[in-house]
Amino acid sequence: MSIVKETISVRSSKRCDMIDITRQVQDVVSASGIDNGDCLVFCKHTTGAITINENADPDVVHDVLMTLEELIPKDRRGYRHMEGNSDSHVKCSLVGCSEQVIIEGGMLELGTWQGIYFCEFDGPRNRQVVVQVRG
Ligand code: ZN
Repeated sequence: MSIVKETISVRSSKRCDMIDITRQVQDVVSASGIDNGDCLVFCKHTTGAITINENADPDVVHDVLMTLEELIPKDRRGYRHMEGNSDSHVKCSLVGCSEQVIIEGGMLELGTWQGIYFCEFDGPRNRQVVVQVRG
């Protein structure tokens, strides 16, 4: 089995956003030369996350972010964390810091409507996402 690890850079331009990184992840898979195995996409930040969701209709991203905002408001009585970004930390934990995708024939085995997203919850910032390919 071989393992290839790469870091990809993501620049967010809003406080909360979902940035499609499918192309960048596929590029790492293609460059690895691994045809069959799996790919781990991992975010090392505490206010950023990784998810897989629809990348055909951009309204889905809007609706996911709007719903997270309603469920986890930025200003809420009772938050203690002095940095003032407790909502970002909560959103990060709910969405999760990684996704794993099967690789078949050198391609990410995603559904027709699926894309891999980096989720920004405390931007704008420069972010790093680690991609590890095994096979
Ligand atoms: Zn914080």
